[in-house]
Amino acid sequence: MRYLFLLCAFSFYLFADAHIFLYHRFNDDRYPSTNTQNSVLRKQFEFLRDNNYTVVPLQSIVDKLNQNETLPEKWIALTIDDGYKSFLNALPIFEEFGYVFTMFVYVEAAEKNYPDFLNWEELKELEKRGGTLAFHSYSHSHQTKQSKDALRADFKKGLELYEKRVGSKSSFYSYPYGEFNDEVRNIAEEFGFSAILNQNIGAVSDKSSVYDLNRFALVGDENIKPFLRYKTLEAEWIEPKIYPSNSNITKVEARVSGNITKAKLYITDLGWRDIEVKDGLINYDVNKKLQKSRVRVILQADDKISTKILVKD
Ligand SMILES: [Zn+2]
Repeated sequence: MRYLFLLCAFSFYLFADAHIFLYHRFNDDRYPSTNTQNSVLRKQFEFLRDNNYTVVPLQSIVDKLNQNETLPEKWIALTIDDGYKSFLNALPIFEEFGYVFTMFVYVEAAEKNYPDFLNWEELKELEKRGGTLAFHSYSHSHQTKQSKDALRADFKKGLELYEKRVGSKSSFYSYPYGEFNDEVRNIAEEFGFSAILNQNIGAVSDKSSVYDLNRFALVGDENIKPFLRYKTLEAEWIEPKIYPSNSNITKVEARVSGNITKAKLYITDLGWRDIEVKDGLINYDVNKKLQKSRVRVILQADDKISTKILVKD
């Protein structure tokens, strides 16, 4: 019995997944869809502290993946996109808890001193207060809609400015709006980042690609407990690979690992449904018209989850 317990404890440890959170604005009531109140942030941080989670630099997770090492239990990385000025409302709370963070910079906004955004001086100051700066595009456009040339030009211009102002290269990249497809991802990879982050619900496992790290976007009075339970469902997405050209999603096909026989499938606007898994294969007829231009397809089996984003180009 004791050995069984040890075995379970050990395998739990083996399959420990890390989680990466994404914030945007803080204590800024004007934008409820991207805002986190200070009181909520404090509650979330207290939960992490009281439940023995360790907030680590994003680089530590990337290092573990690159070294093919097991991710320690209860690792968390905190990220913030865009570089809004309102982050200064939250910074003292990050410092109070000693939580390091990565700030993804919308370069054009910093460069042109857009009123709602931190300027370069303020961004540089973050590096002295637990922050790592990273790249979040020059123009913050919808990248799946850009031509390859325009997209490469945006990276080039943005990275040149970023390196000039920050004084070092960006190790990380996050997609504006979390929107990408294989083509956008391939172009982003050309620019030599050590990790690329999406905005998909999921965890980070030993098998995650450093070029496709999942992040939970936290907004409003979010209870982080359910998110922290999620582990990575290893899924190979077969169909659809991209947003269907006639907006009609005919079926979802994916291969999942493990002895899974039942799963749940979520499609934006269409909600959740129970589906069957036969010999590791999901082959589910949908035949519905997609309404939104950004659609998430999520597979969940118990607490394991995998997300595919489809963006109309
Ligand atoms: Zn953004």
